[in-house]
Amino acid sequence: MTHNPIRPWRNIERRPSRKIMVGSVPVGGDAPISVQTMTNTDTADVKATVTQILAAAEAGADIVRVSAPDEAATKALHEIVRESPVPIVADIHFHYKRAIEAAEAGAACLRINPGNIGSAERVREVIKAARDHGCSMRIGVNAGSLEKHLLDKYGEPCPEAMVESGLDHIKLLQDNDFHEFKISVKASDVFLSAAAYQQLAEATDAPIHLGITEAGGFVSGAVKSAVGMGNLLWAGIGDTIRVSLSADPVEDVRVGYEILKSLGLRTRGVQIISCPSCARQGFDVIKTVQTLEDRLSHIKTPMSLSIIGCVVNGPGEALMTDLGFTGGGAGSGMIYMAGKQSHKMSNAQMVDHIVELVEQRAEEIAAEAKDSAAE
Ligand code: SF4
Repeated sequence: MTHNPIRPWRNIERRPSRKIMVGSVPVGGDAPISVQTMTNTDTADVKATVTQILAAAEAGADIVRVSAPDEAATKALHEIVRESPVPIVADIHFHYKRAIEAAEAGAACLRINPGNIGSAERVREVIKAARDHGCSMRIGVNAGSLEKHLLDKYGEPCPEAMVESGLDHIKLLQDNDFHEFKISVKASDVFLSAAAYQQLAEATDAPIHLGITEAGGFVSGAVKSAVGMGNLLWAGIGDTIRVSLSADPVEDVRVGYEILKSLGLRTRGVQIISCPSCARQGFDVIKTVQTLEDRLSHIKTPMSLSIIGCVVNGPGEALMTDLGFTGGGAGSGMIYMAGKQSHKMSNAQMVDHIVELVEQRAEEIAAEAKDSAAE
């Protein structure tokens, strides 16, 4: 997917993994790395939960997880699943009946650790419900809730304990001939998380759900997630990702996408290349970029746009972007199209003009894609 014969230093070899389905979304194998988030509404409040799912889906979420802690939540899931444009994962802890109800309600995937739900008979019942309703599962090992016997054995949460926990849960599913599962080994510590995922990647061919759990607030959490997950994704590990910020789920999705975009693993919307600005800037770069990010957030077509303060770096960056604007002087700058100088534009009208050009180009690309699909 990211093979680049001209610039081999950009290649990422993804770890081979089995492909499973989370509803209509493939995860693993050669499937694009999907982006997930989780709602934080009361699941029983269908309206609030669906509103949040729609916003996350609009921001690019491929899959959304919803907590199912009680019967009111699994009841609400029926309608939530019906109204959601993306597959829903039901998050279950311990209560095997909630898992069965969630599968019956149409959840595409159950996030559940089979080792935590009690007897072998209960595990069989949950697997049967998943199988009957076309549900996959995610085993979600978390450093903060490791089984007591593993903490006794290893003394503290460590990569070996987390992977052993994951493999124990996997065995329960495999013993029941159930193979439609993915797995995560999350920790809030990037070193622990990265080491656990590296070991997990060696130990199983199951698709891997990446996440740095409880990453923190918007800025610190985004940076921590980018460092932890970026390192793993760069090494080819990870088939679906969830950024866990103490922020609106839409921000999780945006950060997740930006991590994948920065590694060339997914593309979506306008990628703005902009300079930090300095005394040479021919216009207010920072304010312009903030305005453009906002005004172009509805564009889903992958496109690149360079917004550069002056000719020191402007023409060079414009060479590598679909559209570009470089500040010049005397209240105007130069528009570049497909790397070539096109026309002058005043600073005052530049934002409206660029938005128009991007929208036009997005329409052209969509029409070209439609034509080539019809051929
Ligand atoms: S491109 Fe020009 S304005 Fe932007 S930081 Fe560099 S020198 Fe300054």
